[in-house]
Amino acid sequence: MQREKVVIIGSGPAGLTAALYTARANLNPVVIAGPQFGGQVAPTHEIENYPGFPGGSGTELIEIMKGQAERFGARIEMDVVLSVDFSAGSPFTVRTGNVEYLADAVIVTAGASPRLLGVPGEAEYTGRGVSYCGTCDGFFFRGKRIVVVGGGDSAIKEALFLTKFATHIDVIHRRDTLRAEAELQKRAFAHEKIDFIWNTVVERIDGANGKVTSVQLRNLQTGEVRQYPTEGVFIFIGHEPNNALFKGVLAMDEHGYLITDRHMMTSVEGVFAAGEIQDPIWKQVATSVGQGTAAAMAAEEWLAKREAAMAAAQERQKQA
Ligand code: NAP
Repeated sequence: MQREKVVIIGSGPAGLTAALYTARANLNPVVIAGPQFGGQVAPTHEIENYPGFPGGSGTELIEIMKGQAERFGARIEMDVVLSVDFSAGSPFTVRTGNVEYLADAVIVTAGASPRLLGVPGEAEYTGRGVSYCGTCDGFFFRGKRIVVVGGGDSAIKEALFLTKFATHIDVIHRRDTLRAEAELQKRAFAHEKIDFIWNTVVERIDGANGKVTSVQLRNLQTGEVRQYPTEGVFIFIGHEPNNALFKGVLAMDEHGYLITDRHMMTSVEGVFAAGEIQDPIWKQVATSVGQGTAAAMAAEEWLAKREAAMAAAQERQKQA
């Protein structure tokens, strides 16, 4: 059993910011990094919209954040939380495969993961032509024709990145307008390697000899179904909060995002949350950093009040 003042679950921008702030508040936080150190930002090829960071990869940004938090004493454990027990209130139990932590306060920053299409062939060909990460897998599609599924910022940003490798990219979108920000749309529409297939969904991913060879497309307006040849399918259709540990433990909205109050406190007093696990709307590095800051400051304040209340109670007991 390892006693801690603050345990932070997750190591994306929200978690590392919460680590920086709680470390500077002398709370000696431990961050349990989770299955992907740095969260979704880590594999991002280019971050251009985080103020003060004029441009660079997600890995670079995360390394800077990690170094800054560690400089003030935060400890970052490359470990994965397997279960939590918040039922008895503070101190809370957080278990990994190696350690059982007992924490006065917990900050949950477990983030989100890519949403799956859920069509036949997707699971079978993941890693064999189906990908959710351009930065990780783009290189393998050098000189190939690929499709990108989705119409949001991720899809368009990744399609633009993948033009470095692929000879041609079709963006397959279920509507006829994009959700992506205007600047990304402008760049994609102007790009000679990118075309759009509108009002269309991927119904199946087909392949041969362990590799993707085509997708079955359905036009939602005409109902036309056709087989479309491609060697790669990059899927960017949003994210799902990583809430499996917290089902039946912390209150969630109908989409599975943790519900927090204005002080980033979850439904359990002393458990705070920040970043994409509780943010169904903004999902930017900058907003996650802001939420991580707020959660850390709120946790610090809550711990100080709790300590003062406990000291006062002890004093009353002594006098009684
Ligand atoms: P998103 O904004 O939710 O977009 C998801 C896209 O996938 C939408 O176009 C949606 O179509 C489509 N989609 C959803 N489910 C689908 C399905 N089952 N089949 C086919 N298409 C489906 O997700 P995102 O692009 O991952 O972005 C998530 C958040 O991160 C957003 O807030 C975004 O602004 C932010 N982000 C920002 C940047 C940046 O550089 N600023 C980069 C990446 C992400 P509809 O449009 O019809 O709903």
